[in-house]
Amino acid sequence: MSDKKGILIILSGPSGSGKDTVLNELVARNDDLRVSISMTTRKMRQGETDGVNYYFVDRDYFEKKVSEGKMLEYAEYVGNYYGTPKAPVDEMLNNGINVVLEIEVQGADKIRKMYPDVVSVFLMPPSLSTLESRIRMRGTEDEETIANRLFIAQQEIRRADEFGYVIVNDTVSEAVESFETIIKAEQLKFSRNKHLISEVTGNV
Ligand code: 5GP
Repeated sequence: MSDKKGILIILSGPSGSGKDTVLNELVARNDDLRVSISMTTRKMRQGETDGVNYYFVDRDYFEKKVSEGKMLEYAEYVGNYYGTPKAPVDEMLNNGINVVLEIEVQGADKIRKMYPDVVSVFLMPPSLSTLESRIRMRGTEDEETIANRLFIAQQEIRRADEFGYVIVNDTVSEAVESFETIIKAEQLKFSRNKHLISEVTGNV
């Protein structure tokens, strides 16, 4: 257990907004930051690995974990369950690691209610047409799923003002820099540094 707890951070944004790319770069540049690995019932996409991108499970297993109280939050999104296993997040935070939950807006809402000091960031695509072309370029979804994802994307964007911060993902490097700036500012908040007063004055 570390003296200082890690910061819990939510990153939301519509499908195709580039969350994975931004987070990969962020993790590569910051040793003290990890992304929580979610559990999902959706099928594995080409290029994905079980236990790296997600834990891919069936609906029965997922529902069992929920009923056992093992999930921090979960939501249904385009017909599949997605959820955050609780134990690894608690462990990382207790070890002073900053943890990013890459989750959709319903999950973000639940986490905000449970952790009032959570840092929440919304990754905004520069436009809907950029979003559509990013989803199509991925080439992993059929037309119906693409249409569903675009429809949900617009609903998600309308809820972006529930988040504390917004980053427009024009270029990955700028988005990563903005993310690092947010984390830095959050680390400097007095509410996270109250111990300094007694440390400096010598009072216990
Ligand atoms: P995808 O199928 O594109 O990987 O993810 C679909 C959506 O589910 C994305 O918006 C992603 O952020 C969200 N998501 C991934 N993991 C979780 C999770 O553990 N909980 C919730 N609530 N949403 C998640």
